Amino acid sequence: MTLSENQPLIKKPLFNPDGDIDVLDRRMIGGNTTNLNDFNNMKYPWVSSWYRQAMNNFWIPEEINLSQDVKDYPNLSDAERGAYDKILSFLVFLDSLQSANLPNIAEYITANEVNLCLSIQAFQESVHSQSYSYMLDTICDPAKRNEILYQWKTDEHLLARNTFIGDLYNEFQENRDARTFLRVLMANFILEGVYFYSGFMFFYNLARMGKMPGSAQEIRYINRDENTHLWLFRSIILELQKEEPQLFSSENVAMLREMLEEGVRQEIAWGRYVLGDEIPGLTGDMVEGYIKYLGNLRWSSLGFGQLYEDYRTEPADMAWVSQYSNANMVKTDFFEAKSTAYAKSTALVDDL
Ligand code: ZN
Ligand code: ZN
Repeated sequence: MTLSENQPLIKKPLFNPDGDIDVLDRRMIGGNTTNLNDFNNMKYPWVSSWYRQAMNNFWIPEEINLSQDVKDYPNLSDAERGAYDKILSFLVFLDSLQSANLPNIAEYITANEVNLCLSIQAFQESVHSQSYSYMLDTICDPAKRNEILYQWKTDEHLLARNTFIGDLYNEFQENRDARTFLRVLMANFILEGVYFYSGFMFFYNLARMGKMPGSAQEIRYINRDENTHLWLFRSIILELQKEEPQLFSSENVAMLREMLEEGVRQEIAWGRYVLGDEIPGLTGDMVEGYIKYLGNLRWSSLGFGQLYEDYRTEPADMAWVSQYSNANMVKTDFFEAKSTAYAKSTALVDDL
């Protein structure tokens, strides 16, 4: 059975004794799931490695020392501090939206092994939100904290940005058909693969200038998680291409392309706005080159080729971004050169 694009999706049942048991009958959407968590028989082979990676990535925000950041923050230039605040405010919004929206997507996924991944992702998005609150608690005074958390109330650029992203997610609240579902999957893919990045590169740039090293380390752990989330949504979209090819008509592929191009445009404009031209080491042009390169990576990873002819390789002046964000290097503490793989419980004190 295939779904037509305007057909409302059926929410997965909570308990369905008549559901299909054979793994060959399992479908990403529109399947007849028992809703039993059967991880012994999995249809999608990438789920096992995704799960292992996501669990190995477990981290605790308070394990990162922010004492240098407490000293550095008041000494940042006004431009640096303004950018730090605005970028943090935007990241707080992105992770809040992700935590809240992932269960809406999971309601329509009829492969429980994929729902397992979405539950872990939602947990990680909550950890990210908590890491921002730890940073704000440690680095800023209470008035500043609230100013950063709710900056969209006073910054019209941030409000417009959040509104665009939030409206795309809201579409699926209003209209639960297959085409709108595809749009919200793409919106997730763009959020994970593009919207975080001018923020991430700002923090990495501060660190390479010797400032706010703890904040950069928090961001590196978040970045590592976001990479797995991107992997998850790319995999869901690729499976849908096989299972529901009728959803990927040339009109719909053009629609997805336009969504990504608009996402890239907005990320570049946002980067130019928050950074201005007074941040040592990072200019708006550098952001534009890197985000277009990411746009190419994202579009080609879905099997659709390149978006921007001149941005096929990582810009040479941005090699430091991947040095910070490289998932393999995160396993070693970048600043203290010791293993931070979470293999112990001694740091936790049971005070019950
Ligand atoms: Zn996150
Ligand atoms: Zn994420």
